Amino acid sequence: MGGSMGGSGIVNIFSNDETASKQARKRLKAKLEAAGFSVPADFDPAAELIVCVGGDGSLLNTLALLGFPEIPIIGVNTGHLGFFQELRPGDMDEFIFRYKEGQYLIQSLKTVSGEIVRDEGEPSFVKGLNEIVIRGARSTVARLNIFMGDSFIETFRGDGILVSTPAGSTAYNYALGGSIVDPRLDLIQVTPMAPVNNSAYRSFASSVLLPPHMSLNVLPEYGREKNMLIVADGVEHNYSGVRRIHIELSENTVKLLRFANYDFWNKVKEKLL
Ligand code: NAP
Repeated sequence: MGGSMGGSGIVNIFSNDETASKQARKRLKAKLEAAGFSVPADFDPAAELIVCVGGDGSLLNTLALLGFPEIPIIGVNTGHLGFFQELRPGDMDEFIFRYKEGQYLIQSLKTVSGEIVRDEGEPSFVKGLNEIVIRGARSTVARLNIFMGDSFIETFRGDGILVSTPAGSTAYNYALGGSIVDPRLDLIQVTPMAPVNNSAYRSFASSVLLPPHMSLNVLPEYGREKNMLIVADGVEHNYSGVRRIHIELSENTVKLLRFANYDFWNKVKEKLL
């Protein structure tokens, strides 16, 4: 039988390797099957729902592993921070009941995508639900020419820059002093990482906010280090001979299932204060 979305009746469950998560996954599978859903052992792209058991990190890993599918996803938190995770293991019966009754909402979260153009070879692409970080591959001061749209803005000097989605604003961005953004807003936040500001050099010291259609181009300063470390949702990618990195908000959204009474600011209060 299908869920409230009139879907396939198939639910994919992923979990991290912790014992508590594996146990919760097993219990949820049994409950879903008893409620008439089919829970395959491997990912089925025809599924109407993905459940991810673990923490935010597990949800991010699952999305990256599956290539950011359009299928709605819900998280079960097994003892982590759980900003994205809507459920606790004890909520499963209530969740199945509410899901079948259609008592939920879908939070559509924009992702951020990056195109890395190098001196040789085809461009590479990265994507993140939280953020993309651009930094030098070595522990020296990164020198990055920053263009907003077509306009050259500054030569940034520092550890690097972090480009955050609204959903990622409460993660690494927040630890760097960036602003918390209500995910109903559509914008890109660019947060400097340890910017150098002295009598010789000037870089933006605060985050800047850009409209959703504006892209960001980052070019290593001419004649300088071209080996870059690009980190998408915590996953590191090393690139040599980087000529340009183009970053923009992607139309590819993550559809996070929430209970009907979900409130972003209550979550912020509960998790961050
Ligand atoms: P991790 O370094 O093991 O843990 C990162 C922490 O950030 C976890 O506690 C995670 O929650 C939490 N988190 C993830 N997304 C969040 C969000 N949107 N809002 C609030 N908290 C969030 O790495 P990970 O678990 O693989 O997660 C990757 C993320 O780590 C990256 O996207 C980046 O934002 C973040 N990170 C943060 C720092 C920092 O704060 N200094 C440094 C590096 C990376 P759970 O406990 O529920 O998993």
